[in-house]
Amino acid sequence: MKIVVVGGGPAGSTAARFLAPHFDVVLIQDKKWTKPCGGGTKTTLFDEFDIDKKLIKNKFSFFEIKFKKNSINLDIKDDNLSIVFRDEFDEYLRNKAKQNGAKIIYDKLIDIKNNTAILKKQSIKFDILIAADGVNSITRKLMNLPEVPKVLTHYALINKQIKKPIFYFDRIYGGNFYAWEFPHLNKTHIGSDASTFQNFINHLNIKTSNKGYFIPSWNKNIKIQQNNIYFVGDSAAQVMPLTFEGIHYAIESAKILANSIINNLNYQKEWNKKFLFHFKIMKLLENTMKQKILREIMLFSFKSKFIQNFSVKLWLKS
Ligand SMILES: Cc1cc2nc3c(=O)[nH]c(=O)nc-3n(C[C@H](O)[C@H](O)[C@H](O)COP(=O)(O)OP(=O)(O)OC[C@H]3O[C@@H](n4cnc5c(N)ncnc54)[C@H](O)[C@@H]3O)c2cc1C
Repeated sequence: MKIVVVGGGPAGSTAARFLAPHFDVVLIQDKKWTKPCGGGTKTTLFDEFDIDKKLIKNKFSFFEIKFKKNSINLDIKDDNLSIVFRDEFDEYLRNKAKQNGAKIIYDKLIDIKNNTAILKKQSIKFDILIAADGVNSITRKLMNLPEVPKVLTHYALINKQIKKPIFYFDRIYGGNFYAWEFPHLNKTHIGSDASTFQNFINHLNIKTSNKGYFIPSWNKNIKIQQNNIYFVGDSAAQVMPLTFEGIHYAIESAKILANSIINNLNYQKEWNKKFLFHFKIMKLLENTMKQKILREIMLFSFKSKFIQNFSVKLWLKS
């Protein structure tokens, strides 16, 4: 059976890696680039998916939450948060797929007709196509499926060194979500909801040009399969509500998808078994944070050690 995987980010590379020992797998990636991303992910991911820890640029046991005049140091224990650089991380994952037998082609999918993936330079017939082509998925458009709901972020890499990740929860900086500063070796990755980015950089007292990119906003109604076409990662909006972590969930979801194809299981049901409950709870919290009063109550509750420990457990669980 021939499987074409479109998109060699964390989702596509992982799907190709686990499917390649069983099927004839081709992984299509349009370009070598640095996917806009803070690169923050749970350190447990590296052992869980046999990913080389040499890719970790920074590791943290604490991060800081700021709102109003409060600053809370959250103990996430044992270096549980790691930062990767997405250009080398994605390339490493593509090489893992290659080592398992996937063929990597650098080309761009432009159309799909009669179970054939039409690329700029060639066409490939498939039995199954996996669309791991990110938040702006061309496959969704070609299949006439609605785009995934998404939030526009603005981000920048600035010349500043900080010791731990900082999350800013004041609406003036983070909008309905949060603004962030993530250490990237001797630089800092900053970003926020596009509408509040200027306020945020004014607050940090820096001048920088920014770029924009979308993060998917998950809901339970997003279609993740249409006949022999499967969606995974950002193209399926599999990004954790509220925290907006996508790397871990793209990789885990891709493994679920690969297992579902190998064992002839229902992908949506398998995904729901693992993630639906947790994603629904986090969506509820995300919606709560959009309401001014409830947001303040939630943030003030973070002063409690009990709430801190509970949140860390909830975060580490998946
Ligand atoms: C500003 C910002 C900061 C973020 N920070 C974090 C963070 O700190 N931690 C975290 O966990 N998540 C973060 N995310 C989310 C995270 O980046 C994504 O959820 C994650 O990259 C999803 O992986 P993916 O493989 O599904 O998609 P992608 O990483 O987007 O990979 C899709 C790949 O498909 C390729 N592609 C697209 N179209 C085609 C085509 N037609 N033909 C061939 N190839 C194609 C693209 O080039 C791309 O490399 C952030 C997102 C943004 C925008």
